[in-house]
Amino acid sequence: MLIVKPIPQIDESPSSIFLRAASLNGLEKVRYLLQFKDKNGKEPLKQGLSPSWRSPELFNSYMNALGITLPEGVSAYRQVKTIECIKVYFTEDLYLPSLIYRGEGSATCPHCLADKPYLRKIWSLKLIDICPVHRCDLVRVCPQCQWPLTWHRRCPKTCSCGFDLSTCEPTFLSMNNPDEVTEAIADKRQYSLNFLSDWTLRKERKQQRENRHR
Ligand SMILES: [Zn+2]
Ligand SMILES: [Zn+2]
Repeated sequence: MLIVKPIPQIDESPSSIFLRAASLNGLEKVRYLLQFKDKNGKEPLKQGLSPSWRSPELFNSYMNALGITLPEGVSAYRQVKTIECIKVYFTEDLYLPSLIYRGEGSATCPHCLADKPYLRKIWSLKLIDICPVHRCDLVRVCPQCQWPLTWHRRCPKTCSCGFDLSTCEPTFLSMNNPDEVTEAIADKRQYSLNFLSDWTLRKERKQQRENRHR
């Protein structure tokens, strides 16, 4: 069990909980959590952190081993292969095609991080380029080291180069509006998300056809 345990937030992404667990306990790198030993001397997280993001069962077993209590409704994503596509269950009852999933930790809102330093689950969706709260563009590249952001960093608000991402000067260049997506997720409106799923799948198939003819 960890000495200091993060309290998971209701809209927190799975990687963020690991990042906070590592930094709260003085680990310089989040991957050092893999060497965490339980009371029997075993390493319960040795299957790797990222496989647990798409398996709520593995994620829950990791949280159990670390002694972190998940509030109701906080879970990892569930990946399900169907005939048409790979679906990622964003919550237990809401899914999107996997190609809408951006990946963990690659986009952040500096204002949200300054407000509360954890990664929001919604930032992991490619559809979201603007923070629904602050209306600024999500930051995807560190202004100091100029590398694209990844979840391999010291804590949610610190880039691996040490830059405090909550101090980024946000831009307001994007022209899209994430309200419909964020509301559909908040209100659990799968029928609204189905439209996006169908549209994305059509686009993907068209791309595959074009690639085949090249
Ligand atoms: Zn924000
Ligand atoms: Zn950096």
